[in-house]
Amino acid sequence: MVTDNGRLPLTREEIAEFRFEGEKFRLIDQSRGIWRPKGFEGALTIVTTFREPGKERPYEDEIGQDGLPRYMWEGDDPFLFTNVALRTSMQRQMPMIWFVGIGRAPARYQVVAPVFLVDEEAHLQRFVVAPMDASAIIPDVVGQESPIQEAMRRYLRTETTIRLHQPVFRASVLRAYETRCAVCNLGHYQLLDAAHIMPDRHDLGIASVVNGMALCKIHHAAFDSNILGVTPDFIVKIRPDLLEEIDGPMLQHGLKELHNNKLMKLPENKKEQPRKDLLELAYERFTSAGAA
Ligand SMILES: [Zn+2]
Repeated sequence: MVTDNGRLPLTREEIAEFRFEGEKFRLIDQSRGIWRPKGFEGALTIVTTFREPGKERPYEDEIGQDGLPRYMWEGDDPFLFTNVALRTSMQRQMPMIWFVGIGRAPARYQVVAPVFLVDEEAHLQRFVVAPMDASAIIPDVVGQESPIQEAMRRYLRTETTIRLHQPVFRASVLRAYETRCAVCNLGHYQLLDAAHIMPDRHDLGIASVVNGMALCKIHHAAFDSNILGVTPDFIVKIRPDLLEEIDGPMLQHGLKELHNNKLMKLPENKKEQPRKDLLELAYERFTSAGAA
């Protein structure tokens, strides 16, 4: 599987073609989200299907208070064989592969691996997913904590963002923008980032495309440092003092000439376009920084 180190999402067909030592090796079930290969005691892979923004997913996976994603049981029978397989993976601390659906037509999945199930919340019919076996620091979320436990939890939260949220976010944003910079239309993924409009909005879910824009490296840095702003109507603004400045071609063509331009690339699906309220917050940040 060519995933460019897990950065490029795969189609179901590509996942189905996976081979191990020359032999076809099934990685997902045809119809279920949980897959335990023959000879395995626990589940090896879990799948989260793509949810159209605004629509309910059949199984709603969420981010918990602790910042860790949740994976729902199949159905509500704790002893269904798939749920038992998940529990076994958790008890044996087996590394798993998580396929996160990030689009339809064609359905594409971001590969997130390894992940571990570190706890079960039976009353909510779900498991807790983490990027490492962190079961020792998950229990007793409430109550007294030692400074070490607190530090471990903070570390886990950071690792989770980097290893789980970030690749999924990047893949969904680049797909939505067809691997082009929103500001200048540059189309080379090596030079592109998935930029957050407002930082750290994990409440928006694991693939929060509406809080993202695909931006080339220079426009990402310009956006983050308030040299470049985007109005809620998708108009590019350049900080006033830079407009006065005379310098080389990068300043001239890469920044100044883009002032008052409309964004050159937006997701075709309106529901994946940047949310106006988030752009408004970011634009306020831009204008107040420019005035200072
Ligand atoms: Zn650009």
